Amino acid sequence: MARFTRVFGVPKLRVDFVRGLRFRLTLSYVFFFTVLLVVIGLIFRKNIQSEMDGDVRTALEEEWGAAKAYLRIENQRPFWFADPSDPEEAYIVTRLEHVYLVTDANGEVLDLSETYASIGIDSRVEVARILRLPQPEVHTRWAKDGVPYLIKAGSVPDDKGRPYFFAIGRSLEASHQTVQRLTENYFILSSGMIALSCFLGWVLAGRAIRPVDSVAQTAQNITGSNLSLQIPLRGAGDELDHLIDSFNRMTARLNLSFEQIRRFSTDVSHELRTPLTAIRGQLEVALFTAETPEQYRDAIVNALEDVQQLSSIVRALLLLSQAESGQLVLQKTPLDLAKVATDIVDQFQIPAEEKGIQLSATIEAGALISGDRTQMERLISNLLSNAIKYTPDSGAVDVRVGLDDSPGWARIVVRDTGVGIPAENLPHIFDRFYRVRNAQTNLAQGLGLGLSFVAWIVEAHGGRIDVSSTVDEGTRFTVLLPLRSPTLESAEPEHSATVQPLA
Ligand code: ATP
Ligand code: MG
Repeated sequence: MARFTRVFGVPKLRVDFVRGLRFRLTLSYVFFFTVLLVVIGLIFRKNIQSEMDGDVRTALEEEWGAAKAYLRIENQRPFWFADPSDPEEAYIVTRLEHVYLVTDANGEVLDLSETYASIGIDSRVEVARILRLPQPEVHTRWAKDGVPYLIKAGSVPDDKGRPYFFAIGRSLEASHQTVQRLTENYFILSSGMIALSCFLGWVLAGRAIRPVDSVAQTAQNITGSNLSLQIPLRGAGDELDHLIDSFNRMTARLNLSFEQIRRFSTDVSHELRTPLTAIRGQLEVALFTAETPEQYRDAIVNALEDVQQLSSIVRALLLLSQAESGQLVLQKTPLDLAKVATDIVDQFQIPAEEKGIQLSATIEAGALISGDRTQMERLISNLLSNAIKYTPDSGAVDVRVGLDDSPGWARIVVRDTGVGIPAENLPHIFDRFYRVRNAQTNLAQGLGLGLSFVAWIVEAHGGRIDVSSTVDEGTRFTVLLPLRSPTLESAEPEHSATVQPLA
């Protein structure tokens, strides 16, 4: 059995903790802080280590100088030549005796300390290499128990001037232990700081994100019916304010579109209802009261006129939806705007005369464009129909067609002495279904589609349209269209069509 449940409302999106901005912000903050601490710690450790090793090396150099003064080798026998009653000399010699080795040139050990034995006696090859060096050599070696020693090895002469291998050393253990202790302390402290940074990062990220939550909260309260709701700016002038501002602008635009659609639905139903009610009334009257064929005929003629109006509204809507969806393909041919304009102006002479409006035209030759004749006629008729519609009786409408001052452009100007358009309405008149609402324009019928069509046609021909208007003085529409390129010059096919303005 098939089942269907209609769900109302969309379930709210839950923020995944791990993917959440707060978690990721904290994580990156802690990560960079940790890397920074580790790098600083390592650099610090290396510097302290080399500083302390430097001290040991200096002490070793001093001991080397002292050792050369106190060491004597006679008859293959090394001994320390120092005054045992001098406590200072005795102390120095005791220190020297701690880590030392003396061998003959063949590497035969003559004397060594216990500690040196645990470090490892130098091989014959090593002894020979050191003896060949012009200067003593310093290097680090590790004893069996893992203690590092700085060793200085070189050659010393015996009483007959024969070279002997001699090496002394100093333990690096104290300095290494100090550095080790410092490092341990540093990293224990660092882990505490990292834990603290986690906490602080979490709190700070939470504070940074809080406005986003409040924005999301407000945004959730915005629905189709209260699109005018604006999220208040925080005044911080930061990216979030920028986002809120963009969001507010978006809802304002949506609100405008919704408003237009709403107004359009009302307008359409109103526009359709009027002729429908009239048709129904006429037919009902005819059905119940008409007796002669003439009376039936009159009723049918009246009903037909209203049907005509209905179909023009439907046609306008259909055309607009085709234009919007790109189904209305332009049939561009070489076109003389002068001819098109003359035809249309002629068509409007009678409606203009009926209103007592003086319709004049100044048509210059040379405005040759590549365009769709039907759409060009529609463009001029819509501008002219507006000019006549929004000009009170005994006003004037003037049409000018010719070349523009800027080379390569044709120009159509439609000027009237009508009611004008208030400055605040001017930016919207090309919007779909937009009509200026005031006492003067309310009298005129229309859907507010004519100028959106005009704008679409101008754009589709690569042109531009300007409007300037003064309330109670008149309006002037200027259309510029690119002239046909001379290479496309060919005879214009003769055809004509009568295009009604929209509505
Ligand atoms: P439609 O053309 O669809 O029958 P409409 O004439 O009201 O209806 P548009 O031609 O798009 O719609 O014009 C939009 C609005 O711009 C009009 O409602 C009118 O208020 C204003 N407008 C247009 N042309 C003029 C004009 N020449 N003088 C004064 N107002 C004008
Ligand atoms: Mg119009």
